[in-house]
Amino acid sequence: MRGRMRSSGTREGSRIRSCESGSIEMIEQLIKRALEAGFDKAGALDCSTIVLRPEVREACRKNTCGRYGTSWSCPPGCGSLDECAARIRKYSKGLIVQTVGKLEDEFDGEGMMAAAERHEQTFRRFAGELRGEYPNMLPMGTESCSTCDQCTYPDSPCVDPLGASSPMEAYGIMVSEVCRVNGMDYYYGKGTIAFTACFLLE
Ligand code: SF4
Repeated sequence: MRGRMRSSGTREGSRIRSCESGSIEMIEQLIKRALEAGFDKAGALDCSTIVLRPEVREACRKNTCGRYGTSWSCPPGCGSLDECAARIRKYSKGLIVQTVGKLEDEFDGEGMMAAAERHEQTFRRFAGELRGEYPNMLPMGTESCSTCDQCTYPDSPCVDPLGASSPMEAYGIMVSEVCRVNGMDYYYGKGTIAFTACFLLE
């Protein structure tokens, strides 16, 4: 019977709930390294729990972020939902990472931006670190890819397909759901803001 990884941690420590034999050390190490890299929370992602929801993907069309149709990392440039599903099906193990910022109040725009920036920088740094060990990994961030000052979409192919990262929502992933089913919180209470990303490793 195939087991499921259930491992998560914070900067204060980590805990193991259950795990496939042979994966526990790998995931423990990755969680430790993610926290050392600067994330506030990290946990195992069982890729079989990922559900791609057309309604999440459809919300991109509203273009509230202004990136719809402007990047290879976002719809429609990142491919159809079926194409995204085919990519995700290649993976079984991954990592969820989070940055949790503290806010003075709900209008603390500077605090939100600082946490977003910290998350983005940590994400990029850690993605670069993991890439050497998992050359085929699929990183999925919080925002549209910002590797280039100006995305080449749609005039010429992506200049850095390995370095590019789509937001999880672009793949139709409901972030709160994937956190919950993998034993991670999504919301850390009043006065906080949390940014979530993931790495599909192998
Ligand atoms: S790497 Fe550059 S070209 Fe590719 S998706 Fe990101 S911003 Fe666009």
